[in-house]
Amino acid sequence: MKYIEEFHDPGLAAGLLDDIRATVTRPWALMEVCGGQTHSIIRHGIDQLLPDGLELIHGPGCPVCVTPLEMIDKALAIASRPEVVFCSFGDMLRVPGTDRDLFRVKSAGGDVRVVYSPLDAVEIARRTPDREVVFFGIGFETTAPANVMAVHQARRLGLRNFSMLVSHVRVPPAMEAIMRSPECRVQGFLAAGHVCSVMGLTEYPPLAQRYRVPIVVTGFEPLDILEGIRRAVHQLERGEHRVENAYPRAVRDEGNPAALAMLAEVFVPADRAWRGIGRIPDSGWSLAPAWRSFDAEHRFQVGGITTEEPEVCRSGDVLQGLLKPHECEAFGTLCTPRTPLGATMVSSEGACAAYYHYRRLQPAGTTARAAQAAAGTEEATPVG
Ligand code: SF4
Repeated sequence: MKYIEEFHDPGLAAGLLDDIRATVTRPWALMEVCGGQTHSIIRHGIDQLLPDGLELIHGPGCPVCVTPLEMIDKALAIASRPEVVFCSFGDMLRVPGTDRDLFRVKSAGGDVRVVYSPLDAVEIARRTPDREVVFFGIGFETTAPANVMAVHQARRLGLRNFSMLVSHVRVPPAMEAIMRSPECRVQGFLAAGHVCSVMGLTEYPPLAQRYRVPIVVTGFEPLDILEGIRRAVHQLERGEHRVENAYPRAVRDEGNPAALAMLAEVFVPADRAWRGIGRIPDSGWSLAPAWRSFDAEHRFQVGGITTEEPEVCRSGDVLQGLLKPHECEAFGTLCTPRTPLGATMVSSEGACAAYYHYRRLQPAGTTARAAQAAAGTEEATPVG
């Protein structure tokens, strides 16, 4: 498949790995920001191929995972109303709220529908003018343009029965919050390529300078990720901290000007709570006052719902790179993809789901050695 298979080439991957191994002289910790990158890394075992001491920390870039519990509870309250058709992408239906999820609301008679685009929800609103149609607009900068387009379309069609429950978050403020944490171990970032395809690169140089970290815009296929790692460790070994674009086939410095113009018209910056992390100033978007009539939170008066995160789930530590999923006591026992306690186990991009799905039950670097030891071909050695 064009732009996929050629980025899986084993010979080229071996060459990049040789370069990384020849470059690294001391331990480094890089954070891959995006959950899609995390899945690619775990699926292809990239972290297990890196030289000892070069660690990949899994970042907060999974939109389902960071949607706060209180926003799920607001969605559940709206979806339970008899006049509402609640539309969402499928992976939000199993995210647990305080006492149930959207599947439970649906099985209790709620009209909850899976859609593949926010424009599908607009079309449902057009065809059913006697129902209130609400779209659950979550995600990062990547999904925001489609959501503002849906609101635009609803206004153009004169729809008064369409609204959006907006829970949009932005990556650069989260990267800054991670760097400001006293527990932060991140020394460089693999930035999320698809976010940058919308937003461009302009937000990143101040972060790289302020926190003295290389930021390499990286794609999602194995060669993309290895190239992002290679560039980051070259910078780290030279004491540099620049922004580099290692994903030029999708990302331009200026981003997507048409999408940016529409985002600036429909959204305004807003403080947002991140699941397990807490409130980060200006880390998301809300509908601008001129578009307030499409705001489901306002229309259904659910702004007062506040919820505490459960203590047993440590997804906040996972999302900040302070804990690997298998280090959570509930991993694989109390918490599995069938019985998720947290969003990082529900979402297809969640780090906990990636570790469970790809049977990553031990720290990176030990699995192959342990397997060899179990087969009697090598003695297991402690991880250094
Ligand atoms: S394994 Fe489950 S309980 Fe533990 S952090 Fe992940 S989602 Fe939360």
